[in-house]
Amino acid sequence: MQGFYFWAWRKGLRSKPFLQDRCKVSRTHVKNRFKNRFKIVVSKPNKLFMNIRIGNGYDLHRLVSDRRLILGGVEIPYEKGLLGHSDADVLTHAIMDAMLGALALGDIGHYFPPSDPQWAGADSIMLLQQVQGLIGAQGWRVNNLDAMVIAEAPKLKPHIKAMRDRLSQAMNLSIDCVSVKATTNEGMDAIGQKEAIAVHAVVLLVQ
Ligand SMILES: [Zn+2]
Repeated sequence: MQGFYFWAWRKGLRSKPFLQDRCKVSRTHVKNRFKNRFKIVVSKPNKLFMNIRIGNGYDLHRLVSDRRLILGGVEIPYEKGLLGHSDADVLTHAIMDAMLGALALGDIGHYFPPSDPQWAGADSIMLLQQVQGLIGAQGWRVNNLDAMVIAEAPKLKPHIKAMRDRLSQAMNLSIDCVSVKATTNEGMDAIGQKEAIAVHAVVLLVQ
């Protein structure tokens, strides 16, 4: 006779009802422990998905001669570049607009107006970091982003990795949280005629 039964025998508590009671209590205790564990498992996803915001951004710039082509902070060799007040980095602009949109903070034109000479030729990566500081001040950070560049020319596939690297470094994100994709407009409209490049971007913020 060992353990609990030995203890019960020593105490003279050998009656069947007592032992059954102990067993019931023991089973209830086990059930409660299981329930508590289950509650913890359930509460984790609730907490994870409580404070998230999604934002979308869109931008388009005209392709012209005598301009550098900058996309995602990377200079891409091409006979034309994007026209704009800053460096006209259409990819970075769309990402910034998505970040601002997630918190309903307006658009980049509000913070960096083209009429303001201080933004002439500005490095858009620097502007992106300013927007990141803005959302960071409100306790938010970028979880991940996904961008689609629409360009008939040049071919962007060889430059995708460099753009993802540059953006992830600038935003202090893991590269697998920064998605940049490229497509064409099948020869249709101004983008298809190689007169412009457009970008759609989606950003998820977490708190
Ligand atoms: Zn722009």
